[in-house]
Amino acid sequence: MTVIDLAAWVRAFAALVEENAAELTALDAAIGDADHGTNMQRGMAAAVAALDDSATDAPGEVSKQTALVLIRTIGGASGPLYGTFFLRFAGAIENGSELTDFVRAFRAGLDGVIARGKADVEDKTMVDALSPAADALDKAVAVGATPAEALNAAVAAAESGRDATTPLIARKGRASYLGERSAGHQDPGATSAALLVRAAREALR
Ligand code: ADP
Ligand code: MG
Repeated sequence: MTVIDLAAWVRAFAALVEENAAELTALDAAIGDADHGTNMQRGMAAAVAALDDSATDAPGEVSKQTALVLIRTIGGASGPLYGTFFLRFAGAIENGSELTDFVRAFRAGLDGVIARGKADVEDKTMVDALSPAADALDKAVAVGATPAEALNAAVAAAESGRDATTPLIARKGRASYLGERSAGHQDPGATSAALLVRAAREALR
């Protein structure tokens, strides 16, 4: 892939997850079961190990392999959801190499997460970071932005979406069991999803 190196994206996401694992778990301790950091660490370490063992660097193959590893190794809700993201991304990216291919595949990944988890924006989930990022990418393509401009806009959108989860009442996932008591805490999955977008910016060629 010319615009974003898929394997570099997966590796950068794994590194950011590793760096932020304690925070992800602390956020999940407040409104969940205190395992989001360890879930993501386990899954992404396995995804990197699979990359090390694999011969291919075709974007669709790398993304599909990552999806299957995440689904297999993460027990929590986030495993199938991130797995679905990468699986749908794989299906849409094929061997496309332009910014528009990445943006289309990112949108397909988000649509997969929504189809699987049935969360809307403002349900206080990873969708609250991924959806503004997808919108920012679409907008960047529409105005002819460079890949770097597009990814910068996506990171900013994902991070403000993540921050905006704090006052929300969770309507999906484990945090929804807390009802109004979930308000006042940043969503762990939106936090890791913002790292996924930041990792994509780091993987720009
Ligand atoms: P679990 O909730 O099974 O312990 P994790 O702690 O790894 O799994 O992940 C929790 C995160 O998953 C939440 O913070 C939220 O962002 C995300 N999540 C949970 N349910 C959904 C859903 N239905 N749709 C989208 N994201 C969800
Ligand atoms: Mg959890």
